[in-house]
Amino acid sequence: MPQSSVKRFVHSIMYTISIILTLCLLSCTTPEAQSSPSNFGLVVHGGAGTILKKNMTQEKEAAYRAKMEEALKKGYEILNNGGSSLDAVEATIHILEDAPLFNAGKGAVFTSEETNELDASIMDGATLNAGAVAGVKHIKNPITAARLVMENSPHVMMSGSGAEEFARQNGVEMVDPDYFRTERRLKQLQRAKEKESSQGAIDAPSEMNNFKFGTVGVAALDKNGNLAAGTSTGGMTNKRYGRIGDSPVIGAGTYADNNTCAVSSTGHGEYFIRSVVAYDIAALMAYKGMSLEEAANHVVNEKLVEREGSGGIIAIDKDGNVAMPFNTPGMYRGFVKSDGKIVVKIYKD
Ligand code: ASP
Repeated sequence: MPQSSVKRFVHSIMYTISIILTLCLLSCTTPEAQSSPSNFGLVVHGGAGTILKKNMTQEKEAAYRAKMEEALKKGYEILNNGGSSLDAVEATIHILEDAPLFNAGKGAVFTSEETNELDASIMDGATLNAGAVAGVKHIKNPITAARLVMENSPHVMMSGSGAEEFARQNGVEMVDPDYFRTERRLKQLQRAKEKESSQGAIDAPSEMNNFKFGTVGVAALDKNGNLAAGTSTGGMTNKRYGRIGDSPVIGAGTYADNNTCAVSSTGHGEYFIRSVVAYDIAALMAYKGMSLEEAANHVVNEKLVEREGSGGIIAIDKDGNVAMPFNTPGMYRGFVKSDGKIVVKIYKD
């Protein structure tokens, strides 16, 4: 073969190889870039109820806002560093459980017997796996116990002393029941009991609103497109007979599915259980093609209102859209998206 033909042959081989390499590089990098969506986010609630500006001192409002901001910052930090939505949900709820301001962990409301009985649940939207604990009295952070039920057991929900034994075996921090006691919640119980003895059982929704605020919940979307939600509560003031609300009930208080959204509820639990609130929102998106905003508003401001169920929800969808509807005078709530801008709101505005 003449030398010029050999040169041309080598050139054409090199050219083909470089094209193949370029195509290979492109096809290898594109999906990676796509699997890191920039629209991650986290949305938080600290309970819904008769929260009115006229009843709030400046100091109290500032304390609530500061704690919500601290929680949102923590969640953002985890998500921004590439952490999972489950880690963000658990860590954010820890901050709120440890703050006596909220009806979860320390600061939980009292039962009729002057005890604190805590409920929590968590759900992983990627696997549809879920975990919950109910009626526990010694677990410092019930959301962590709920996550362990999900990850280290074949079960979804554990209650009372059995849940505590499981938590102990799994290394969860246990505390003396006195840890949960706060003067403010004790006074709330006394007021609830006085009202009950003067006018009978308090079960009118408008009355109930005065005796429970501060359940906490978080929903998050991470950089890998995974959704998760969690809820933690002390339930309702003056509850008895081992009453369990919606917060540890998957589908009512908490739900997450990567195909639709992640939701955490707060409000009068009995109504939320009967209306399967969190799942209903996801189902309306899946079956009716509603947007998160439409589905959440329909459930909270139409269906629940018709049934006299008071409360609200926070939710984030698979594209990072956030919804925070409530049908009570106020709801502690806030969100942060990938831009890092933190928004906290309390009243209707
Ligand atoms: N949903 C909670 C319960 O019924 C209370 C609340 O969210 O304020 O136990």
